[in-house]
This record gives sequence, C-alpha cells and structure tokens, in this order.
Amino acid sequence: MSRKYIDCREIPSESHCTIAISADNEDELLEAAVQHAVAVHRHYNTPELRLLIKRGIREGTPPDTRRAPYNGAGQTDRIPLR
Ligand SMILES: [Zn+2]
Repeated sequence: MSRKYIDCREIPSESHCTIAISADNEDELLEAAVQHAVAVHRHYNTPELRLLIKRGIREGTPPDTRRAPYNGAGQTDRIPLR
C-alpha cells in the first residue's frame, strides 16, 4: 500500500502554509488534514471541507522541494501540525 499525502503548498491560502501531511491510509490522512485545516486555517469541520480535502489527496510522498527543519533525514511519519 503506497503512502498518501496532502500538501498545503498546493492549496492557496492566506498564510501560504507549507505543511504536508502523509499517512498510510486515507482515513488517517483525512482526520489529520481536517484537524490542521480547523486549527491553522480556521475552517469549520463540515462535510464540504472533508470533500475538498479528499480531492487534494495525492499518491506517494510529498515532494522535497523545501527541507523542513524537523526532517533531517528522509521521510517522517508524523508531522507536527504547528
Ligand atoms: Zn495548511
């Protein structure tokens, strides 16, 4: 089973968020992304938000175009939301 991820850099936002979240299954990923959207982007946890996030889910791992400070060596499984 391949990794799935959501990359906030793909989603236009006022805060120009650079977070990417990845997980092994879509449910985990969706939950983490919803929490991120609510906590950071001040969205409301609605079915519409979940649908939007689901559409943003990609296969694989987030592109390493920016090196995040917590990620010194390769991929991480858990990304702090703040
Ligand atoms: Zn974000």
